[in-house]
Amino acid sequence: DLVVVGSANADLVVGVERRPAPGETVLGSDLVVHPGGKGANQAVAAARLGARTALLARVGDDAHGRLLLGSQREAGVDTGPVLVGGAPTGVALITVDPSGDNSIVVSPGANARLTPQDIRAAAPLFAAARVVSVQLEIPLDTVAETARALAPGTRLVLNPSPPAPLPADVLAACDPLVVNEHEARYILGILGQEAGDTPEEWAGALLGHGPRSVVVTLGAEGALIADSRGGGGVRVPSPKVEAVDTTGAGDAFTAALAWRLGRGESLEEAAAFAVRVGAAAVTREGAQASYPTAEEVGAP
Ligand code: ADP
Repeated sequence: DLVVVGSANADLVVGVERRPAPGETVLGSDLVVHPGGKGANQAVAAARLGARTALLARVGDDAHGRLLLGSQREAGVDTGPVLVGGAPTGVALITVDPSGDNSIVVSPGANARLTPQDIRAAAPLFAAARVVSVQLEIPLDTVAETARALAPGTRLVLNPSPPAPLPADVLAACDPLVVNEHEARYILGILGQEAGDTPEEWAGALLGHGPRSVVVTLGAEGALIADSRGGGGVRVPSPKVEAVDTTGAGDAFTAALAWRLGRGESLEEAAAFAVRVGAAAVTREGAQASYPTAEEVGAP
């Protein structure tokens, strides 16, 4: 029902006392390897909630690729569409200092080799999808081809992260475009538009550029939704929780939203569910490891 098209990365994390200067070597903690990448995170988040989910991604024929396939399968994701080979699995090399600040180098690897041709070859998968969710850690051409590959009636959920200029036809296909503050400002900047100061203004301005609906995520404040088919911006507050680690919360939110939209809920209903999932995800460490089941968020 839900098809996620996107990235899969191995996150390689080492704690350091301080970052090395150029030419210097520092010793760090034991290496921790987590499955990550926005596409892989979204697929796991949706499947854990109970969504029938397939992932279309590319990983390398290597240990990191097997780790990612394993975490997807364990969550119940259909990994049949995952393509293997062509480059090493994408990795994020992450150093964390004692204050908790991250420095990250991403090697996109196989993610950069997910091609428009791979999307066209997956036509049967798209034909059966109610919702297709995509992000920007894969080539923009591939994202654009995904928007074009949708069957009539299939909904496209796009989280433009990391933000990049979007072709007009891709923007117009979004229903919704899901952005945080940074992404909203970036995209409005690219479009040459004054962003304004409030999420209501960002959503209204973004709607003027074609998406059928817009969701602005607001961290602990929840989200704002706006729909071109009627109504102004509606605030959807998040439950109050003790935030431990916000990594991957946006991916959990978007996955939950996409799944519920596919079940026929309104944007407001789906967002009200998604903020509960996002809030649950910040109460635990990690990205995929923090994602709740539907039972844990008290939902059918
Ligand atoms: P991103 O991580 O993409 O920047 P946000 O920070 O807006 O996105 O978070 C996405 C969603 O995660 C929010 O809409 C909310 O549901 C949830 N969330 C994030 N931070 C918190 C928090 N401190 N308390 C409760 N929910 C949160």
